[in-house]
Amino acid sequence: MLHVYKLSCWLALVLPFSSGSGKEKKLLLVSFDGFRWDYVNRVPTPNFDALMREGVQVDRVENIYVTKTLPNHYTLVTGLYAENHGIVGNEMYDPIFNMSFSMEGEGFYESRWWEEAVPLWVTNQKAGGRSGAAMWPGSDVEIGGTYPVRYLPYNASVPFETRVEKLIHWFLEQEPIDFGVLYWEEPDESGHRFGPESSQLDDVIADIDEKLGFLRNELKKNRLYDDVDLIVTSDHGMTQLFSEKIIQLDSYVKPDLYTWIDKSPVVGILPKEGYFDEVYSSLLDANPNMMVYKKEDVPEHFHYKHNIRIMPILLEAKEGWSIVKNRSGDFMLGNHGYDSSLTSMHPVFIARGPAFRKGYNKDSMRSVDLYPLMCHILGLQPLANNGSLANVQDLLSERSDKDSTPRPYIPARPTEPSYAWALGSLLGAALVVSFLLVFVRQVTLQQLPALALHNREISQPLLQEELRL
Ligand SMILES: [Zn+2]
Repeated sequence: MLHVYKLSCWLALVLPFSSGSGKEKKLLLVSFDGFRWDYVNRVPTPNFDALMREGVQVDRVENIYVTKTLPNHYTLVTGLYAENHGIVGNEMYDPIFNMSFSMEGEGFYESRWWEEAVPLWVTNQKAGGRSGAAMWPGSDVEIGGTYPVRYLPYNASVPFETRVEKLIHWFLEQEPIDFGVLYWEEPDESGHRFGPESSQLDDVIADIDEKLGFLRNELKKNRLYDDVDLIVTSDHGMTQLFSEKIIQLDSYVKPDLYTWIDKSPVVGILPKEGYFDEVYSSLLDANPNMMVYKKEDVPEHFHYKHNIRIMPILLEAKEGWSIVKNRSGDFMLGNHGYDSSLTSMHPVFIARGPAFRKGYNKDSMRSVDLYPLMCHILGLQPLANNGSLANVQDLLSERSDKDSTPRPYIPARPTEPSYAWALGSLLGAALVVSFLLVFVRQVTLQQLPALALHNREISQPLLQEELRL
Protein backbone atom coordinates (compact mmCIF):
# COMPACT_ATOMS: atom_id res chain seq x y z
CA MET A 1 0.00 0.00 0.00
CA LEU A 2 2.81 2.31 0.87
CA HIS A 3 4.19 1.91 -2.65
CA VAL A 4 0.81 2.75 -4.16
CA TYR A 5 0.54 5.83 -1.94
CA LYS A 6 4.02 6.98 -2.93
CA LEU A 7 3.24 6.45 -6.61
CA SER A 8 0.01 8.45 -6.41
CA CYS A 9 1.79 11.34 -4.66
CA TRP A 10 4.42 11.29 -7.38
CA LEU A 11 1.76 11.20 -10.11
CA ALA A 12 -0.01 14.16 -8.50
CA LEU A 13 3.21 16.12 -8.73
CA VAL A 14 3.89 15.16 -12.32
CA LEU A 15 0.40 15.07 -13.83
CA PRO A 16 -0.01 18.85 -14.21
CA PHE A 17 2.93 18.73 -16.65
CA SER A 18 1.81 15.73 -18.58
CA SER A 19 -1.95 16.09 -18.96
CA GLY A 20 -2.29 18.59 -21.72
CA SER A 21 -0.55 21.59 -20.19
CA GLY A 22 1.36 21.99 -23.44
CA LYS A 23 4.75 20.70 -22.34
CA GLU A 24 5.18 18.49 -25.39
CA LYS A 25 7.98 19.56 -27.70
CA LYS A 26 7.08 22.39 -30.05
CA LEU A 27 9.41 23.86 -32.64
CA LEU A 28 8.86 26.84 -34.93
CA LEU A 29 11.39 27.63 -37.67
CA VAL A 30 11.10 31.11 -39.21
CA SER A 31 12.88 32.42 -42.30
CA PHE A 32 12.97 36.07 -43.31
CA ASP A 33 14.25 35.72 -46.86
CA GLY A 34 17.56 37.49 -47.48
CA PHE A 35 18.07 38.69 -43.88
CA ARG A 36 21.83 39.25 -43.78
CA TRP A 37 23.57 38.46 -40.48
CA ASP A 38 24.52 42.08 -39.72
CA TYR A 39 21.13 43.71 -40.44
CA VAL A 40 20.35 43.49 -36.71
CA ASN A 41 23.15 46.00 -36.09
CA ARG A 42 22.09 48.85 -38.40
CA VAL A 43 18.74 50.01 -36.97
CA PRO A 44 17.12 49.48 -33.55
CA THR A 45 15.68 45.96 -33.50
CA PRO A 46 14.19 45.57 -30.01
CA ASN A 47 12.49 42.26 -30.78
CA PHE A 48 15.57 40.62 -32.25
CA ASP A 49 17.51 41.99 -29.25
CA ALA A 50 15.03 40.47 -26.82
CA LEU A 51 15.33 37.05 -28.45
CA MET A 52 19.13 37.28 -28.25
CA ARG A 53 18.94 38.08 -24.52
CA GLU A 54 16.45 35.29 -23.91
CA GLY A 55 18.22 32.71 -26.02
CA VAL A 56 21.17 32.21 -28.33
CA GLN A 57 22.62 34.23 -31.18
CA VAL A 58 24.98 32.92 -33.82
CA ASP A 59 26.62 35.90 -35.50
CA ARG A 60 26.77 34.35 -38.98
CA VAL A 61 25.43 31.24 -40.64
CA GLU A 62 27.77 29.73 -43.24
CA ASN A 63 25.22 28.75 -45.84
CA ILE A 64 25.56 26.53 -48.90
CA TYR A 65 26.59 27.07 -52.49
CA VAL A 66 24.82 28.42 -54.48
CA THR A 67 23.64 31.08 -52.05
CA LYS A 68 20.19 31.27 -53.57
CA THR A 69 16.74 30.91 -52.09
CA LEU A 70 15.52 27.41 -52.95
CA PRO A 71 18.80 25.53 -52.46
CA ASN A 72 19.33 27.12 -49.05
CA HIS A 73 15.77 26.73 -47.80
CA TYR A 74 15.91 23.05 -48.69
CA THR A 75 19.24 22.71 -46.87
CA LEU A 76 17.75 24.18 -43.70
CA VAL A 77 15.15 21.39 -43.56
CA THR A 78 17.32 18.50 -44.85
CA GLY A 79 20.86 19.22 -43.59
CA LEU A 80 22.17 18.42 -47.09
CA TYR A 81 24.33 20.31 -49.56
CA ALA A 82 22.64 21.18 -52.84
CA GLU A 83 24.44 18.40 -54.74
CA ASN A 84 22.83 15.94 -52.31
CA HIS A 85 19.31 17.32 -51.94
CA GLY A 86 18.94 18.01 -55.64
CA ILE A 87 17.54 21.55 -55.53
CA VAL A 88 20.70 22.97 -57.06
CA GLY A 89 19.27 26.33 -58.14
CA ASN A 90 16.19 28.52 -58.35
CA GLU A 91 16.09 27.42 -61.97
CA MET A 92 17.26 24.01 -63.07
CA TYR A 93 17.43 21.59 -65.96
CA ASP A 94 17.38 17.82 -65.46
CA PRO A 95 18.81 15.93 -68.46
CA ILE A 96 17.08 12.67 -67.49
CA PHE A 97 13.65 14.28 -67.12
CA ASN A 98 14.59 16.49 -70.09
CA MET A 99 12.64 19.13 -68.18
CA SER A 100 13.24 22.58 -66.78
CA PHE A 101 12.30 23.80 -63.33
CA SER A 102 11.66 27.35 -62.23
CA MET A 103 10.92 28.88 -58.85
CA GLU A 104 8.30 30.94 -60.64
CA GLY A 105 6.32 27.97 -61.92
CA GLU A 106 7.56 25.40 -64.41
CA GLY A 107 7.91 21.99 -62.75
CA PHE A 108 7.78 23.49 -59.26
CA TYR A 109 4.91 21.30 -58.08
CA GLU A 110 6.29 18.08 -59.56
CA SER A 111 7.34 15.90 -56.63
CA ARG A 112 10.24 14.27 -58.45
CA TRP A 113 12.29 17.46 -58.38
CA TRP A 114 12.18 17.47 -54.57
CA GLU A 115 12.46 13.78 -53.82
CA GLU A 116 16.23 13.37 -53.80
CA ALA A 117 15.80 14.35 -50.13
CA VAL A 118 13.16 14.20 -47.40
CA PRO A 119 12.38 17.47 -45.61
CA LEU A 120 11.97 17.52 -41.84
CA TRP A 121 8.22 18.16 -41.99
CA VAL A 122 7.81 14.78 -43.70
CA THR A 123 10.20 12.88 -41.40
CA ASN A 124 8.43 14.38 -38.38
CA GLN A 125 5.07 13.10 -39.58
CA LYS A 126 6.36 9.65 -40.50
CA ALA A 127 7.51 9.36 -36.88
CA GLY A 128 4.07 10.30 -35.56
CA GLY A 129 4.46 14.08 -35.28
CA ARG A 130 2.36 16.74 -37.00
CA SER A 131 3.84 19.50 -39.15
CA GLY A 132 2.41 22.85 -40.21
CA ALA A 133 3.81 25.08 -42.96
CA ALA A 134 3.09 28.71 -43.77
CA MET A 135 4.57 29.35 -47.22
CA TRP A 136 7.99 27.74 -46.65
CA PRO A 137 9.43 27.08 -50.13
CA GLY A 138 8.45 23.56 -51.21
CA SER A 139 6.12 22.90 -48.27
CA ASP A 140 3.06 22.91 -50.52
CA VAL A 141 4.56 20.26 -52.81
CA GLU A 142 3.71 16.59 -52.29
CA ILE A 143 7.00 15.01 -51.17
CA GLY A 144 7.36 11.36 -50.20
CA GLY A 145 3.62 10.89 -50.80
CA THR A 146 2.60 13.46 -48.23
CA TYR A 147 2.04 17.11 -47.38
CA PRO A 148 2.34 18.79 -43.99
CA VAL A 149 -0.94 18.05 -42.12
CA ARG A 150 -1.52 21.80 -42.12
CA TYR A 151 -0.14 24.08 -44.82
CA LEU A 152 -0.92 27.16 -46.87
CA PRO A 153 -0.61 26.99 -50.67
CA TYR A 154 1.98 29.57 -51.66
CA ASN A 155 0.52 33.01 -52.15
CA ALA A 156 2.84 35.99 -51.76
CA SER A 157 -0.06 38.35 -51.09
CA VAL A 158 -1.01 36.65 -47.79
CA PRO A 159 0.16 39.04 -45.03
CA PHE A 160 2.75 37.95 -42.49
CA GLU A 161 0.24 38.39 -39.68
CA THR A 162 -2.20 35.94 -41.31
CA ARG A 163 0.56 33.36 -41.69
CA VAL A 164 1.40 33.73 -37.99
CA GLU A 165 -2.24 33.46 -36.91
CA LYS A 166 -2.64 30.25 -38.91
CA LEU A 167 0.44 28.70 -37.32
CA ILE A 168 -0.64 29.69 -33.81
CA HIS A 169 -4.04 28.15 -34.48
CA TRP A 170 -2.43 24.91 -35.65
CA PHE A 171 -0.29 24.77 -32.50
CA LEU A 172 -3.49 25.04 -30.43
CA GLU A 173 -5.78 22.66 -32.27
CA GLN A 174 -7.23 19.55 -30.63
CA GLU A 175 -4.55 17.61 -32.45
CA PRO A 176 -1.83 20.25 -32.50
CA ILE A 177 1.17 20.45 -34.76
CA ASP A 178 4.54 20.08 -33.03
CA PHE A 179 6.70 21.46 -35.85
CA GLY A 180 5.97 24.64 -37.78
CA VAL A 181 7.78 26.46 -40.58
CA LEU A 182 7.10 30.09 -41.48
CA TYR A 183 8.42 32.09 -44.42
CA TRP A 184 8.36 35.81 -45.26
CA GLU A 185 9.60 37.32 -48.56
CA GLU A 186 11.36 40.34 -47.07
CA PRO A 187 13.97 41.82 -46.82
CA ASP A 188 15.02 39.92 -49.97
CA GLU A 189 12.70 41.77 -52.34
CA SER A 190 13.72 45.21 -51.10
CA GLY A 191 17.37 44.14 -50.94
CA HIS A 192 17.27 43.34 -54.66
CA ARG A 193 15.38 46.49 -55.58
CA PHE A 194 17.14 49.14 -53.48
CA GLY A 195 20.43 47.45 -52.56
CA PRO A 196 21.44 46.34 -49.07
CA GLU A 197 23.22 49.60 -48.28
CA SER A 198 20.21 51.80 -49.12
CA SER A 199 18.29 53.81 -46.53
CA GLN A 200 15.07 52.17 -47.75
CA LEU A 201 16.33 48.90 -46.39
CA ASP A 202 16.61 50.41 -42.90
CA ASP A 203 12.83 50.86 -42.93
CA VAL A 204 12.29 47.30 -44.15
CA ILE A 205 14.47 45.90 -41.34
CA ALA A 206 12.60 47.98 -38.76
CA ASP A 207 9.35 46.62 -40.20
CA ILE A 208 10.59 43.04 -39.93
CA ASP A 209 11.49 43.65 -36.31
CA GLU A 210 7.89 44.75 -35.76
CA LYS A 211 6.69 41.60 -37.49
CA LEU A 212 8.87 39.54 -35.18
CA GLY A 213 7.27 41.49 -32.32
CA PHE A 214 3.84 40.50 -33.62
CA LEU A 215 4.91 36.83 -33.62
CA ARG A 216 6.28 37.11 -30.07
CA ASN A 217 3.08 38.78 -28.83
CA GLU A 218 0.84 36.19 -30.46
CA LEU A 219 2.87 33.39 -28.90
CA LYS A 220 2.62 35.12 -25.51
CA LYS A 221 -1.11 35.86 -25.83
CA ASN A 222 -1.74 32.20 -26.55
CA ARG A 223 0.53 30.95 -23.75
CA LEU A 224 2.92 29.32 -26.18
CA TYR A 225 5.91 31.59 -25.75
CA ASP A 226 7.65 29.59 -23.05
CA ASP A 227 6.85 26.21 -24.58
CA VAL A 228 7.92 26.82 -28.18
CA ASP A 229 11.48 26.58 -29.36
CA LEU A 230 11.63 29.48 -31.80
CA ILE A 231 14.39 29.66 -34.42
CA VAL A 232 14.71 32.80 -36.56
CA THR A 233 17.08 32.58 -39.49
CA SER A 234 17.30 33.07 -43.24
CA ASP A 235 18.55 31.54 -46.47
CA HIS A 236 21.25 34.04 -47.50
CA GLY A 237 22.48 37.61 -47.23
CA MET A 238 22.75 40.28 -49.94
CA THR A 239 25.45 42.41 -51.55
CA GLN A 240 25.41 45.75 -53.35
CA LEU A 241 25.60 45.71 -57.15
CA PHE A 242 27.14 48.40 -59.35
CA SER A 243 25.86 49.35 -62.78
CA GLU A 244 29.39 49.47 -64.19
CA LYS A 245 30.22 45.97 -62.93
CA ILE A 246 28.57 44.05 -65.73
CA ILE A 247 29.86 41.00 -67.58
CA GLN A 248 28.14 40.59 -70.98
CA LEU A 249 28.34 37.03 -72.30
CA ASP A 250 27.38 38.10 -75.82
CA SER A 251 30.77 39.82 -76.03
CA TYR A 252 32.56 36.48 -75.63
CA VAL A 253 30.45 33.66 -77.04
CA LYS A 254 27.70 33.31 -79.66
CA PRO A 255 24.35 33.09 -77.84
CA ASP A 256 23.08 30.25 -80.06
CA LEU A 257 25.86 27.89 -78.92
CA TYR A 258 24.49 27.34 -75.42
CA THR A 259 21.50 27.48 -73.08
CA TRP A 260 21.91 29.19 -69.74
CA ILE A 261 20.31 27.67 -66.69
CA ASP A 262 19.84 29.68 -63.53
CA LYS A 263 20.98 33.28 -63.52
CA SER A 264 23.63 35.65 -62.23
CA PRO A 265 25.80 35.60 -60.25
CA VAL A 266 26.31 31.82 -60.71
CA VAL A 267 25.26 30.76 -64.19
CA GLY A 268 24.93 27.17 -65.37
CA ILE A 269 25.95 26.85 -69.04
CA LEU A 270 24.66 23.94 -71.13
CA PRO A 271 26.57 24.01 -74.45
CA LYS A 272 24.76 22.77 -77.53
CA GLU A 273 25.73 19.26 -78.66
CA GLY A 274 29.31 19.27 -79.97
CA TYR A 275 30.13 22.83 -78.83
CA PHE A 276 31.44 22.24 -75.32
CA ASP A 277 35.09 22.98 -76.21
CA GLU A 278 34.26 26.10 -78.21
CA VAL A 279 32.00 27.56 -75.51
CA TYR A 280 34.41 26.70 -72.70
CA SER A 281 37.50 28.13 -74.41
CA SER A 282 35.58 31.29 -75.39
CA LEU A 283 34.56 31.93 -71.79
CA LEU A 284 37.73 30.84 -70.01
CA ASP A 285 39.81 33.94 -69.18
CA ALA A 286 37.23 36.10 -70.97
CA ASN A 287 36.77 38.41 -68.01
CA PRO A 288 38.90 38.70 -64.85
CA ASN A 289 35.77 39.16 -62.73
CA MET A 290 34.21 35.87 -63.81
CA MET A 291 35.39 32.44 -62.70
CA VAL A 292 34.79 29.68 -65.27
CA TYR A 293 34.67 26.09 -64.04
CA LYS A 294 34.19 22.80 -65.77
CA LYS A 295 31.72 20.96 -63.55
CA GLU A 296 34.36 18.46 -62.44
CA ASP A 297 36.71 21.31 -61.44
CA VAL A 298 34.31 23.12 -59.11
CA PRO A 299 36.20 23.54 -55.79
CA GLU A 300 35.48 20.68 -53.36
CA HIS A 301 34.46 22.99 -50.52
CA PHE A 302 31.43 24.15 -52.54
CA HIS A 303 30.00 20.59 -52.52
CA TYR A 304 28.55 21.43 -55.89
CA LYS A 305 29.43 18.95 -58.61
CA HIS A 306 27.91 15.53 -57.92
CA ASN A 307 24.47 16.01 -59.41
CA ILE A 308 23.24 15.75 -62.98
CA ARG A 309 21.31 18.99 -62.52
CA ILE A 310 24.58 20.90 -62.22
CA MET A 311 25.52 22.11 -65.70
CA PRO A 312 28.76 21.16 -67.53
CA ILE A 313 30.14 24.72 -67.25
CA LEU A 314 29.65 27.00 -64.28
CA LEU A 315 30.26 30.76 -64.34
CA GLU A 316 30.67 32.62 -61.07
CA ALA A 317 30.84 36.41 -60.85
CA LYS A 318 33.05 38.09 -58.28
CA GLU A 319 31.18 39.86 -55.51
CA GLY A 320 29.23 42.89 -56.76
CA TRP A 321 29.48 41.86 -60.42
CA SER A 322 26.58 40.69 -62.58
CA ILE A 323 26.60 38.26 -65.50
CA VAL A 324 24.12 39.10 -68.27
CA LYS A 325 23.79 38.17 -71.94
CA ASN A 326 23.66 41.84 -72.82
CA ARG A 327 22.49 45.11 -71.29
CA SER A 328 18.88 44.79 -72.44
CA GLY A 329 17.35 43.65 -69.13
CA ASP A 330 16.39 45.39 -65.88
CA PHE A 331 19.17 46.11 -63.46
CA MET A 332 19.00 45.20 -59.78
CA LEU A 333 20.88 47.04 -57.02
CA GLY A 334 21.35 44.01 -54.78
CA ASN A 335 21.93 40.30 -55.29
CA HIS A 336 23.00 37.05 -53.65
CA GLY A 337 24.08 33.67 -54.99
CA TYR A 338 27.83 34.39 -54.79
CA ASP A 339 30.57 32.28 -53.18
CA SER A 340 29.22 30.96 -49.89
CA SER A 341 32.43 31.85 -48.06
CA LEU A 342 31.70 35.60 -48.49
CA THR A 343 30.34 37.03 -45.22
CA SER A 344 27.90 39.19 -47.19
CA MET A 345 26.10 35.98 -48.16
CA HIS A 346 25.62 34.81 -44.59
CA PRO A 347 22.26 34.96 -42.81
CA VAL A 348 21.16 35.77 -39.28
CA PHE A 349 20.47 33.15 -36.58
CA ILE A 350 18.69 33.63 -33.26
CA ALA A 351 16.85 31.02 -31.20
CA ARG A 352 15.11 30.85 -27.84
CA GLY A 353 12.97 28.43 -25.91
CA PRO A 354 13.31 25.53 -23.48
CA ALA A 355 15.89 23.73 -25.63
CA PHE A 356 18.26 26.68 -25.85
CA ARG A 357 20.71 28.37 -23.52
CA LYS A 358 20.04 31.93 -22.44
CA GLY A 359 22.16 34.91 -23.42
CA TYR A 360 24.67 32.79 -25.31
CA ASN A 361 26.61 33.97 -28.35
CA LYS A 362 28.52 31.94 -30.93
CA ASP A 363 30.60 33.26 -33.84
CA SER A 364 29.33 31.07 -36.64
CA MET A 365 27.65 27.81 -37.56
CA ARG A 366 27.02 25.90 -40.77
CA SER A 367 23.47 25.86 -42.08
CA VAL A 368 23.71 22.07 -42.59
CA ASP A 369 24.06 21.71 -38.81
CA LEU A 370 20.59 23.12 -38.16
CA TYR A 371 18.83 19.94 -39.31
CA PRO A 372 20.40 17.58 -36.74
CA LEU A 373 19.81 20.28 -34.11
CA MET A 374 16.09 20.42 -34.95
CA CYS A 375 15.87 16.60 -35.02
CA HIS A 376 17.37 16.57 -31.53
CA ILE A 377 14.81 19.10 -30.29
CA LEU A 378 11.93 17.12 -31.80
CA GLY A 379 13.35 13.81 -30.55
CA LEU A 380 13.71 12.44 -34.08
CA GLN A 381 16.39 10.21 -35.51
CA PRO A 382 17.93 12.34 -38.31
CA LEU A 383 18.16 10.93 -41.82
CA ALA A 384 21.62 10.87 -43.43
CA ASN A 385 22.82 14.47 -43.67
CA ASN A 386 25.91 16.68 -44.04
CA GLY A 387 25.53 18.34 -40.66
CA SER A 388 26.68 17.50 -37.16
CA LEU A 389 24.86 18.02 -33.89
CA ALA A 390 28.24 18.14 -32.11
CA ASN A 391 29.04 21.42 -33.93
CA VAL A 392 26.02 23.18 -32.43
CA GLN A 393 25.53 21.24 -29.19
CA ASP A 394 26.77 24.27 -27.24
CA LEU A 395 23.61 26.17 -28.21
CA LEU A 396 21.47 23.76 -26.22
CA SER A 397 20.48 24.10 -22.61
CA GLU A 398 21.69 21.44 -20.20
CA ARG A 399 18.13 20.31 -19.73
CA SER A 400 17.73 19.71 -23.43
CA ASP A 401 21.07 17.89 -23.59
CA LYS A 402 19.93 15.41 -20.98
CA ASP A 403 16.54 15.00 -22.58
CA SER A 404 17.80 13.42 -25.79
CA THR A 405 15.71 10.25 -25.74
CA PRO A 406 13.63 9.89 -28.93
CA ARG A 407 10.08 10.37 -27.75
CA PRO A 408 7.46 7.62 -27.99
CA TYR A 409 4.47 8.12 -30.23
CA ILE A 410 1.47 9.25 -28.18
CA PRO A 411 -1.93 8.49 -29.76
CA ALA A 412 -4.24 11.43 -30.47
CA ARG A 413 -6.16 12.81 -27.49
CA PRO A 414 -9.89 11.97 -27.14
CA THR A 415 -12.24 14.70 -28.26
CA GLU A 416 -15.24 14.16 -25.91
CA PRO A 417 -15.24 17.15 -23.53
CA SER A 418 -17.28 15.37 -20.79
CA TYR A 419 -14.58 12.71 -20.46
CA ALA A 420 -11.73 15.15 -20.82
CA TRP A 421 -10.72 15.25 -17.17
CA ALA A 422 -10.80 11.50 -16.59
CA LEU A 423 -9.17 10.66 -19.88
CA GLY A 424 -6.63 13.43 -19.42
CA SER A 425 -5.63 11.91 -16.08
CA LEU A 426 -5.41 8.46 -17.62
CA LEU A 427 -3.25 9.80 -20.43
CA GLY A 428 -1.15 11.64 -17.89
CA ALA A 429 -0.65 8.42 -15.94
CA ALA A 430 0.21 6.60 -19.18
CA LEU A 431 2.71 9.32 -20.01
CA VAL A 432 4.35 9.02 -16.62
CA VAL A 433 4.56 5.24 -16.94
CA SER A 434 5.94 5.68 -20.49
CA PHE A 435 8.49 8.14 -19.18
CA LEU A 436 9.58 5.74 -16.45
CA LEU A 437 9.84 2.88 -18.95
CA VAL A 438 11.80 5.01 -21.42
CA PHE A 439 14.06 6.14 -18.58
CA VAL A 440 14.69 2.58 -17.43
CA ARG A 441 15.25 1.52 -21.03
CA GLN A 442 17.63 4.39 -21.64
CA VAL A 443 19.65 3.46 -18.57
CA THR A 444 19.75 -0.07 -19.94
CA LEU A 445 20.82 1.19 -23.38
CA GLN A 446 23.65 3.15 -21.81
CA GLN A 447 25.01 -0.20 -20.74
CA LEU A 448 24.70 -1.33 -24.36
CA PRO A 449 26.21 1.44 -26.48
CA ALA A 450 25.86 -0.55 -29.70
CA LEU A 451 22.08 -0.38 -29.34
CA ALA A 452 21.93 3.36 -28.71
CA LEU A 453 20.76 4.16 -32.24
CA HIS A 454 17.21 2.94 -31.79
CA ASN A 455 14.93 5.32 -33.60
CA ARG A 456 11.39 6.24 -32.82
CA GLU A 457 9.80 3.69 -35.09
CA ILE A 458 11.88 0.96 -33.52
CA SER A 459 11.19 2.08 -29.97
CA GLN A 460 7.43 2.16 -30.50
CA PRO A 461 6.69 -1.60 -30.56
CA LEU A 462 9.09 -2.14 -27.66
CA LEU A 463 7.20 0.41 -25.62
CA GLN A 464 3.83 -1.14 -26.39
CA GLU A 465 5.16 -4.51 -25.41
CA GLU A 466 6.42 -3.12 -22.13
CA LEU A 467 3.13 -1.36 -21.41
CA ARG A 468 1.22 -4.62 -21.73
CA LEU A 469 3.16 -6.09 -18.81
ZN1 LIG B 1 16.16 34.13 -50.73
